[in-house]
Amino acid sequence: MAFDPESIAEEFHEKYPNEGEFLQVVDSFLNKVSPFISANPDYQDKGVIMRMLEPDQIISFRVSWVDSEGKERLNRGYRVQFNRALGPYKGGLRFHPSVNISILKFLGFEQSLKNSLTGLQLGAGKGGADFDSGRHSDLDVMRFCQAFAAEFFHIANSEADVPAGDIGVSEREIGYIFGYTNKLKRKFSGSFTGKSLESGGSCLRPQATGYGCLYFLEQMLKDNQLKPEEMTANISGAGNVAIYACEKALELGIRVQTLSDSKGVIYDEEGLNEEKLAFVKKVKLEERGRIEEVADKFGLEYSADKKPWDFPCTVALPCATQNELDETDAQKLIDNGCKAVAEGANMPCTNGAVDLFLESGLLYAPGKASNAGGVSVSAFEMAQNKMGLRWTAEEVDKKLKHTMKHIYSQCLEYGGKVNGVPNYVSGANAAGFARLYRAMKNQGVF
Ligand code: NDP
Repeated sequence: MAFDPESIAEEFHEKYPNEGEFLQVVDSFLNKVSPFISANPDYQDKGVIMRMLEPDQIISFRVSWVDSEGKERLNRGYRVQFNRALGPYKGGLRFHPSVNISILKFLGFEQSLKNSLTGLQLGAGKGGADFDSGRHSDLDVMRFCQAFAAEFFHIANSEADVPAGDIGVSEREIGYIFGYTNKLKRKFSGSFTGKSLESGGSCLRPQATGYGCLYFLEQMLKDNQLKPEEMTANISGAGNVAIYACEKALELGIRVQTLSDSKGVIYDEEGLNEEKLAFVKKVKLEERGRIEEVADKFGLEYSADKKPWDFPCTVALPCATQNELDETDAQKLIDNGCKAVAEGANMPCTNGAVDLFLESGLLYAPGKASNAGGVSVSAFEMAQNKMGLRWTAEEVDKKLKHTMKHIYSQCLEYGGKVNGVPNYVSGANAAGFARLYRAMKNQGVF
């Protein structure tokens, strides 16, 4: 039977009508991968494709805890174990009030293609809880993390499921969950990545997603005769990914004009520098404060009702969250002369925005390719833990660059061109799909 993406999409829409984010990623995947599947009869087994879109297992659990004022609290915890064909389930934990099954399924599926694309031995999963780390004291975050670990410790396992951080889960939360998991397991195990260096983490893990994104962008600019030092970049977010994307952008000579958080955006026409970025790190990573404080200190423009995409730039780096850049934003970027978009976040651009980018001939790097540096260094952390060794920052950086190059070349090889411009998004989907498909096919039906 001929490959029929519409019938697959229809089945998922009927089955999961309330899972908007998940359906968005299914539609986008089927749309972008269809030309490859249609042209390659060896990749048309509908059963494999259907199984690829369905998680292996979804675990949900209650997280009950008592805060430091004696008040009883209730949160919901989840782990979506998406696909084990390429290795142990691997993907972050997200703590944010918006966390639900639809969001975790979208993230888990994206993760399965991303992890495949890295060429590393990584299955895919995603999890978390509807907990807002930013609204609680450090003591309460520890209490919550311990309650989470009490439910989760039997899931985390260095050979079966190895979570890392994501939105709202940084080295601090990983540390609390990791410590308590080890207590309950009565052993020291490498069942999480994103650990502090002292607890067995890898050099450059915090920097890896942002740096990797810029390595991808650098290659994309070079191949299209654009010079980093002539670019101005607008970055969204002021978390782990955005801050290290900014750091590497400055190193490459790119003028960075914006950063943002969930409350507003700062705009610096002169461009951020090391001093300002150091202050951003202090405010956002250490003190968990507001980006507005950075504007106050350096006299920068701050807007609570604007987005980074409202300001002209030649490079856009969405590094905050899903669906933060829609069609209106995309049109604004195009009209203002933007030349390249590289996603640091997962699915920050809506499907409509991506279509506009492709139609306009702008260079567009999808997150499953350009933000894969984080999970790649997580794989290196797992390898170092297994061997009981620590690689230097230089060694890790070299391996990260090598992996991002591999991902970039896979995108080119599988992607073809639209309007004479490499189609990185079709390439990323097709290359990620192809490896995963072959592994699933080889392993049989179950
Ligand atoms: P962080 O929690 O460190 O930072 C998230 C940033 O985005 C914060 O500045 C936050 O603002 C802002 N933000 C969150 N939600 C919203 C929203 N609804 N509207 C506007 N701003 C928002 O997360 P990370 O930097 O780790 O993750 C960012 C993105 O990158 C996510 O999509 C994640 O899935 C993806 N990613 C992360 C990887 C990693 O290694 N950490 C790896 C690959 C992808 P505020 O401070 O106000 O909360």
